[in-house]
Amino acid sequence: MIGLPRTPSSKINRANPSSTPGGSRVTEENILVTVRMRPLNSREHAKYDLIAWDCPDDHTIVFKNPNPERAAAKYSFDKVYEPTCATQEVYEGGSRDVALSALAGTNATIFAYGQTSSGKTFTMRGVTDGVVKDIYEHIRKTQERSFVLKVSALEIYNETVVDLLNRDTGPLRLLDDPEKGIIVENLVEEVVESRQHLQHLIGICEGQRQVGETALNDKSSRSHQIIRLTIQSSLREIAGRVQSFMATLNLVDLAGSERVSQTNADGLRLKEGNHINQSLLTLTTVIRKLSSGKQGDHIPYRNSKLTRILQNSLGGNSRTAIICTISPALSHVAQTKKTLSFATSAKEVTNCAKVNMVVSEKLLLKHLQQKVAKLESELRSPESSSSTCLKSLLVEREKKIQQMETEMKELKRQRDIAQSELEQERKGKEQKVVRCLSYTAQEESTPSKSVPRSRRTSRVKRKDNVRQSLTSADRTALAQEIRLFEKNQKKLGEEANQALDLIHKEVTSHKLGDQQSAEKFAKMLSEIRDMQKSNLIPEETVVGDEANLKEEINRLNSEEIAALEKKLETVQKFIDMLASSCQTDEETPEFRTQMKKKRVLPFGLSNSPNLQHMIRAPCSPLSSSGTENKAPESNVVSARDSRTPSKDGTPVSSSRQANSVDVKRMKRMFKNAAEENIRNIKDYVTGLKERVAKLQYQKQLLLCQVIELEGNETAESDESQMERPLCFEEQRKQIIMLWHLCHISIIHRTQFYMLFKGDPADQIYMEVELRRLTWLEQHLAELGNASPALLGDEPASYVASSIRALKQEREYLAKRVNTKLGAEEREMLYLKWDVAPVGKQRRQQLINKLWTDPHNTEHVKESAEIVAKLVGFCDSGENIRKEMFELNFASPADKKTWMMGWNFISNFLHL
Ligand code: ADP
Ligand code: MG
Repeated sequence: MIGLPRTPSSKINRANPSSTPGGSRVTEENILVTVRMRPLNSREHAKYDLIAWDCPDDHTIVFKNPNPERAAAKYSFDKVYEPTCATQEVYEGGSRDVALSALAGTNATIFAYGQTSSGKTFTMRGVTDGVVKDIYEHIRKTQERSFVLKVSALEIYNETVVDLLNRDTGPLRLLDDPEKGIIVENLVEEVVESRQHLQHLIGICEGQRQVGETALNDKSSRSHQIIRLTIQSSLREIAGRVQSFMATLNLVDLAGSERVSQTNADGLRLKEGNHINQSLLTLTTVIRKLSSGKQGDHIPYRNSKLTRILQNSLGGNSRTAIICTISPALSHVAQTKKTLSFATSAKEVTNCAKVNMVVSEKLLLKHLQQKVAKLESELRSPESSSSTCLKSLLVEREKKIQQMETEMKELKRQRDIAQSELEQERKGKEQKVVRCLSYTAQEESTPSKSVPRSRRTSRVKRKDNVRQSLTSADRTALAQEIRLFEKNQKKLGEEANQALDLIHKEVTSHKLGDQQSAEKFAKMLSEIRDMQKSNLIPEETVVGDEANLKEEINRLNSEEIAALEKKLETVQKFIDMLASSCQTDEETPEFRTQMKKKRVLPFGLSNSPNLQHMIRAPCSPLSSSGTENKAPESNVVSARDSRTPSKDGTPVSSSRQANSVDVKRMKRMFKNAAEENIRNIKDYVTGLKERVAKLQYQKQLLLCQVIELEGNETAESDESQMERPLCFEEQRKQIIMLWHLCHISIIHRTQFYMLFKGDPADQIYMEVELRRLTWLEQHLAELGNASPALLGDEPASYVASSIRALKQEREYLAKRVNTKLGAEEREMLYLKWDVAPVGKQRRQQLINKLWTDPHNTEHVKESAEIVAKLVGFCDSGENIRKEMFELNFASPADKKTWMMGWNFISNFLHL
């Protein structure tokens, strides 16, 4: 099976080696048309026929008209050969060049066209011989290339395609192949081994044709013969070239053209179908259409087998030469003229031949493998040429990476600076709050034991100097802080009084309800009045520069905050009562009657100025961060909005509302407003309470500071007290003891213990922890000593809840013993910690023993180690942040797990 190569454009290489015969690469070329006039044959001689044609030059043929009055017909072609010309000359005069293009990858076709016995077969035989000879000559000369020649031959007779190399196969079908174009199915294609072999095969075709001639009478004059040579060549040394040339050369001996003219000219309906030569008819039509050069004209290639097979040769990818053979005899002038007319049309047909390059997959694969191998070897040897380029790329990339690293370093440096500045600022703030606790922290954090006596003495002196200079400044700063504290306290007191006034007014105006609630309200009123009487807000004390801190302590120790708290509690209680009464009131018939008769507005509306006043009550400077102010304001808006809703949600004017006697709507409206008001007052009072709680805490801190400062002043005169504040070990001992006394979380203890091991930078954390614990312990003791009637069961409940939390924590840790500790380790610990070898709850027993002996340093250390293992933080303090221990009034949500101990304090303070 062969096909006409329709090479995909991607595989076409326009380069054409000049050494290859067939001429240069052709893109567009007209069909080469030559005319060969044979000599008069014996029959014509016998009839004394005359030579009717003259060839004045190589390109012209002129009809020698016997009638001189008529104009001589003159035709021009690429070449015109006189009867004396040998076939070799005809071949070499144009056909040769075209034919041998096939050696360089360009398809080529040589036609012989003419009437029967004009010499087509005679000429094509000579051309074929010349082609064969030249091809082999070229192969011989072109040793660098290897050639593969294949030959096939077919005959088209009466639109039947027959294989001339294998006549037994019978008629062959034409198939359209998207890649190869038209292919003749089952056509034998013999690989040619040598020139002789090719000649032999061509001989077979000749023989077959001759057989046909004898057998089928005039058949040869009505059949077309195509000998097709496929020539593929590639360079012997691959050396990077994987393409090969591939082209076909068609040598076409057409049927006698006179039949066509007969059919066409006479327009007769022929009796026999075999007289119609569809292929020849289509060929002339195709040529005529192609020669007219009309763009978009349909070319009927598909109308015949011949034109389908030779489509590329007619206006396609092929070089084409047509040798028109004519008889010189006057008797054949008409046929000759028709032949020349066809030849004239053919001259106008343009082909577009390309060099067909075929990429062999095998070769391509081999080529790619070689390339890969080459690249690999280049990569391995750094000095090879192409890797130099790679190398420079790498160097460039390396540079970029370095540049980025430098930028990153700079950014990190800037970040560190910013962080340390932030840290310093934060520490500065802390130190301001606990100034007296930390003013010597950096200086004195190193354990005194390790410092030689002489150095210690000088350090103490320096320290004293620092202390003296700082003390005076601190006293003033502390006094100012106490002033500020008192100011806040006073402000809060005022706000609490305002709240009380508000409630008073609300209760006074709220006279609805039954007997029982009326009594309740009367009682409430008298309580409020009592409380209002005792509203003695201390006057702001004017202090000089030299503040007496002892006086400050006395003032701070006053019960003012406790009274404030109590006041707020009472206000809250009244609010709750009002809220519940408001809800029940509207259900009573009295309420409805009063609503109808008096149109009494509930307190929310009747006291709107109070509400405004209350809501707009100024917040103390301590809590002026904005958030506390914003929430009530938004509540005001919602409260206002909710006062005048309509069914469709649009606001209702007050006059319309006043005229309306829609009790249900009013009721709903008042109820909403009242609830909103109560919520607002409640929120407000809750906010006040929180602020009072903060104030309480602040007071404790200030107390600590005053005590510390006073203590330091006393110590200044006592040489034996030089080493204060305490060294790290002593501080830690105290902290451990206080943890124990205050029932602080053992996870917190462990964490703190593991994290702070005497680094001077951690001094602030040690100080803060110690102060907090000291204060907590004192506070618990104070509460414990106070009258139970005054404080209720508050201290007891807080201590109890703290102990309960600790118990829960121990249970939690016990559950982790088996998963976090190995069996062997567990047994060793049981042994060490005197847990009975057999028995239940051994894990719990072990955990219960941890952190129980604050005096025993070893016990504490081992306890911490075990808890650390169970919880999963290691000795190095990984997973723990020091910032967790920073001073913070807020209770941060993310510290839940680790701040159990301090959450307790927060809870205690209502923070
Ligand atoms: P066609 O194939 O066109 O029917 P042929 O090639 O068979 O005609 O030629 C018919 C006869 O004319 C043959 O015997 C052939 O030898 C002879 N003949 C044709 N052309 C020439 C020529 N140029 N010189 C000598 N003899 C020729
Ligand atoms: Mg012939």
